[in-house]
Amino acid sequence: MKKIFRLIIITTFLTGLLIPGFNHFLNQQPGDNITFSQENIERRIAQYSAEAVEAFYAANYQTAVNYYEEILELDPFNLESRRNLAVIYNDKNDLLSENRELLKTAILSNRAADIIELAVSFYKLNNAQAANYLLQNMIEAEDIISKRDQYQKYYYLIKSQLELDKLAEAEGFLKQLEGLNLNRAQVKLLRAELNQKLGNYYQAYEDLNNSYQADRTQNYLFREMALMLEKAGEDVKAYDHWQRSLSFGLYIDEANQRIDYYQEHYPYLRPDDEEEKREEINPFILEANWQDIEELETETEVELLRIGLSSGNRTLLFQYSDPFSIIYQGKILFNGEARKNYLLEIDDNSLTISDGEQKVQFGRLENEYQLYSEADNSSFYVYNVEYGQGYFWQGRADRQYRGDMIIKGAENSFTLINELDLTAYLLSVVPSEIYSSWPEESLKAQAVAARSYTLSNLGRHSGEGYDLCSTVHCAAYNGVGNENPRTSNAVLATRGESVYYGDRIIEAVFSSNSGGFTERSDEIWVADLPYLRGANQMKGENFDFPLPPAELKEWLKNDPPSYSRDFNSSSYRWQVKVPVSVIEDRTELGKIKNIEVLKRATGGTITSLRIVGEDASREFNSSQIRRVLGGLRSSRFKFNSIMDSNGYLKELNIYGSGWGHNLGMDQSAAAGMAAEGWNYSQIISHFYPGVEIREYNNNN
Ligand SMILES: [Zn+2]
Repeated sequence: MKKIFRLIIITTFLTGLLIPGFNHFLNQQPGDNITFSQENIERRIAQYSAEAVEAFYAANYQTAVNYYEEILELDPFNLESRRNLAVIYNDKNDLLSENRELLKTAILSNRAADIIELAVSFYKLNNAQAANYLLQNMIEAEDIISKRDQYQKYYYLIKSQLELDKLAEAEGFLKQLEGLNLNRAQVKLLRAELNQKLGNYYQAYEDLNNSYQADRTQNYLFREMALMLEKAGEDVKAYDHWQRSLSFGLYIDEANQRIDYYQEHYPYLRPDDEEEKREEINPFILEANWQDIEELETETEVELLRIGLSSGNRTLLFQYSDPFSIIYQGKILFNGEARKNYLLEIDDNSLTISDGEQKVQFGRLENEYQLYSEADNSSFYVYNVEYGQGYFWQGRADRQYRGDMIIKGAENSFTLINELDLTAYLLSVVPSEIYSSWPEESLKAQAVAARSYTLSNLGRHSGEGYDLCSTVHCAAYNGVGNENPRTSNAVLATRGESVYYGDRIIEAVFSSNSGGFTERSDEIWVADLPYLRGANQMKGENFDFPLPPAELKEWLKNDPPSYSRDFNSSSYRWQVKVPVSVIEDRTELGKIKNIEVLKRATGGTITSLRIVGEDASREFNSSQIRRVLGGLRSSRFKFNSIMDSNGYLKELNIYGSGWGHNLGMDQSAAAGMAAEGWNYSQIISHFYPGVEIREYNNNN
């Protein structure tokens, strides 16, 4: 009964608004025409628009609203101003004002896209009935032009049907949506919702899993998968999924509780004592899996790099490719043979080395020891080395590294450092940073950028005794096994070349995909770097950033032609549905009441966001935003906050662009440009204006 009543109010409102609306315009227009000439009006509108856009990006929303209202005074049929107002209200989380503005826009334009926006707005306000009414009755099929508008129509139709428990209808629309072949990951989530409502829990689990396979940024889905498996009676599988959720650092308390529960009920799930297991293995009979390496000329122009491989070690099993020595302060303490297993261990406060037959104590733990081979192109092999320390992908593997080993003692443990040439290091690093199958000139651009980035960041870990770490914090460095002939060629073809601004090597930052536009450094970070000023990668249509609010929204919703799109379209534009549980888990603000944008950079990247919870509210910067919203590809996005009937956030539908921090070189666009004939120095100059590529030498 209540719902029908609400529907009557809406329809009355929809039709009733027309009459007073037009009266207002009729009363106003003659007067305006007398006061201002048409030319004058247009000039003022242009000026107000510019002021409004500036205010919008600074999140001076009231100022922006006032300017658009001024424009509407001059030109009541300026629908774009109304659309702009709606976007502003959304960003400031004034969903009722947004709804009002969209209602006026839809009535005046009668355009399918505007009616869909209005329906979405009703859905956000927990009025599925109104959303459903508009989507089913107010849109003529032939009105919808773009595929993405059709997608949005079906998406919210299905959401509304599910909300209204009309499951057969939801199923019908879902088939239509699947036929569009867009956003597979999101469509699978709708299937999961439907199957859950139908009580098909195992199928809902499979849908969630398929969605995750289609978009692996959705780590938070492991919790939902586990819950579906529990409902389907698949305890052991549910246990595995709680473990996965835990490994991503999500829902830690809940996952631990469930894991404890299962280990109690299924004793065989309890972990074995790994320490015990390891001791059973005789380390000296293990065989190294050596890889042939491409020979390199020794470098003289750059000092050797020190890369931290792992810390907190108590033992280390390794081999050298050639005979080697252990050296302390110029003195040889031990001579080792090629390709033979040696075990380093701590004994009291000393370091010992053993080959299985004899054990030699060679020095005090707190010193730094150099292992060194006179052979050119020597390398070493470490068994079961720990990688990704501090990250969820942390693990152990055997690894082979070019160059030499350094053992640096600490209290009760030692750090393993790899000392090697810059070029040798880049051979391993560059393939982790870019797809080695991409066009050659983009690989060269990446090699030059990586070299410059490395040189400008040396000493970042000097407090720990090395230059750079081996995780993504500095650059992922996994040794010889990672090298690839195509990227090796790019590194060698540009050997020694670095990017300079004036007489300094630049911090040549890069990201996977900029979504078509990179930002200024001072808008994302504090530093105002003259060579990070924002670059435009759009093709064809002229996009003049900063875009007005509604245009920014359209730009993010659609996928206009761009160099950034050609090689990585799934990162160019993306959509995710973030469950509120993950935001609550990450922010610890209690139930979430609203999300408000506090600042956007020129290209639309959100640089400050406020999340208001029932317990407190907090502001987040660009990189924090990505994390607290469940691991987003980038912080340039628009969102729809879906509210529940008590005024709390239920879920967040986000559509955004790009992957990474949106600064410096956009690797996908570099590939797109290379494919169209740009060379690497043109690519570098596009992303880092005012720079020069020069040979590196120690004097500059
Ligand atoms: Zn680091």
